[in-house]
Amino acid sequence: MNVVYIGIGAMLLLWISFNLHRRRKNRNKTICVVDSSCTGCQRCVKRCRRHVLEVVEGEAGKRAAVKYPDKCTACGDCLGACKFNALKLIAFYP
Ligand code: SF4
Ligand code: SF4
Repeated sequence: MNVVYIGIGAMLLLWISFNLHRRRKNRNKTICVVDSSCTGCQRCVKRCRRHVLEVVEGEAGKRAAVKYPDKCTACGDCLGACKFNALKLIAFYP
């Protein structure tokens, strides 16, 4: 039974350190939408827990837009949700 607890603890530690590393690496980054690749499918909107993204109706149809850029933590979750490679994390310099 102890082996199970040790395994769970080790996995938890790995998960925490991976997320800390990802957050530190992306500290100066924010999300941006590549309009020409976006289909407006809304997968990224549903995936973002911080409600940074929204889908808007433009001249070329529905497209994702960054509604609250300051709320983006650059976690990258939306990148995995997009099947069209229409999201990028870009560096910003305040
Ligand atoms: S990088 Fe994270 S916080 Fe930023 S828009 Fe994507 S899912 Fe939301
Ligand atoms: S998941 Fe990708 S293609 Fe779909 S709305 Fe978001 S950015 Fe656009």
